[in-house]
Amino acid sequence: MELCLPLNTAMVLEPILCPACHSSNVVKHGKSSEGKQRYKCRNPQCSRSTFIQHYSYRGYLPEVKQQIADMAVNGSGIRDTARVLGISPTTVIEELKKVSSPEVSEPTVAGTVVRT
Ligand SMILES: [Zn+2]
Repeated sequence: MELCLPLNTAMVLEPILCPACHSSNVVKHGKSSEGKQRYKCRNPQCSRSTFIQHYSYRGYLPEVKQQIADMAVNGSGIRDTARVLGISPTTVIEELKKVSSPEVSEPTVAGTVVRT
């Protein structure tokens, strides 16, 4: 009886691939001027040195939805929430519309100026 669970299971949740060579051999490399996570490709044959992972899909992860709800409860604005979580304000608004929990029955969408 052997359990052959992969050691890097946690990494599967958010695979970061180099957009140039599609290698997963990348490391975090600071933040961009927009506050987005920058990565550095470690593939010696790759011409791309650094890149920024696009986070739009993160809006669909359950933990992100929870964070959006939590930040709304704490009075965070749409843009703050989007910036902190690395997702678009549109995604935040869409998630807040879907939230039906009694704790956040009054999402702070109304009255908030949203840039698109
Ligand atoms: Zn690469």
